[in-house]
Amino acid sequence: MTPEDSRTTPVEAPSPDTTTEMSHAEDRDTEAKRRGGTPMKLATSTDRRPPPAEVNAPGISLRDINAYYGDSHAIKGVSLEYAPNQVTAMIGPSGCGKSTLVRCINRMHEEIPGAHAEGEILLDDLDINGADVDVVAVRRAIGMVFQKPNPFPTMSIFDNVAAGLRLSGARGVDMRERVERSLIGAGLWEEVKDRLNQPGVGLSGGQQQRLCIARTIAVEPDVILMDEPCSALDPIATLKIEDLIQELKERYTIVIVTHNMQQAARVADTTAFMLLGELVEHAPTGKIFSNPGDSRTEEYVTGKFG
Ligand code: ADP
Repeated sequence: MTPEDSRTTPVEAPSPDTTTEMSHAEDRDTEAKRRGGTPMKLATSTDRRPPPAEVNAPGISLRDINAYYGDSHAIKGVSLEYAPNQVTAMIGPSGCGKSTLVRCINRMHEEIPGAHAEGEILLDDLDINGADVDVVAVRRAIGMVFQKPNPFPTMSIFDNVAAGLRLSGARGVDMRERVERSLIGAGLWEEVKDRLNQPGVGLSGGQQQRLCIARTIAVEPDVILMDEPCSALDPIATLKIEDLIQELKERYTIVIVTHNMQQAARVADTTAFMLLGELVEHAPTGKIFSNPGDSRTEEYVTGKFG
């Protein structure tokens, strides 16, 4: 959705127990097993060891995704591979389905009354729509950052970061350590370490967005979806988030929806161009902007429409 878009959805400001808490690949000791072909299981607990320095995040495969709002067919047969530990930008004109598609990836689309989706979404080997898969665990593993920073208004900086962990009933977690590590990870620690008990909403817009990123990574996700995360921010705050995205991809697989093509060119390893609910092209970002394979992509990236 664009900032001027007046539509709101019931999932715009998610409750922490669904979208702001996520899990890391549950136990890195099982990584070799998983790579060897054992289907991945989603963690049901956030109580686990700190991850090792090097983390191989899982990739995501979308296979023939169709999404609907009632009878309206918003996403049409999209298949797409999001590579592990890479940033993939989703670009395309307003209304082409970027937000809808990313909301399918953590099963938020289905929360909208009348909406449904079809197709297969694999997190490594795990079908996230599988009958025995816990949707809350999916949303822990695949976290989301929204276009408008949405810290919990009555909570302190500390509690905002701790919220997802607490609501998921995490036990045995050193909350202080996890909050500090998450704020460091979100590039905010130095700016807030002396005022952790002050309200989160007292921060600047850019700081609030990094606070939301800290809240997201506190539950140790595998994938971070970002829906226009900088559209409400000034250029300096935007650059900070973009720098942060480069750091985050060392740990997470990242999908970023953006209407800003310069931003896609700056942050994304690959870029996917959508039009009218279809995926037109997905390629390395340099190719999309300099030598796209489809004339519609070229017309869009050269500003002939949009
Ligand atoms: P983008 O993110 O590319 O701007 P969206 O995914 O927001 O596009 O929208 C794709 C299509 O789905 C548009 O036609 C839009 O009007 C429609 N749409 C999005 N959200 C809703 C909703 N909550 N209810 C009904 N239609 C919606």
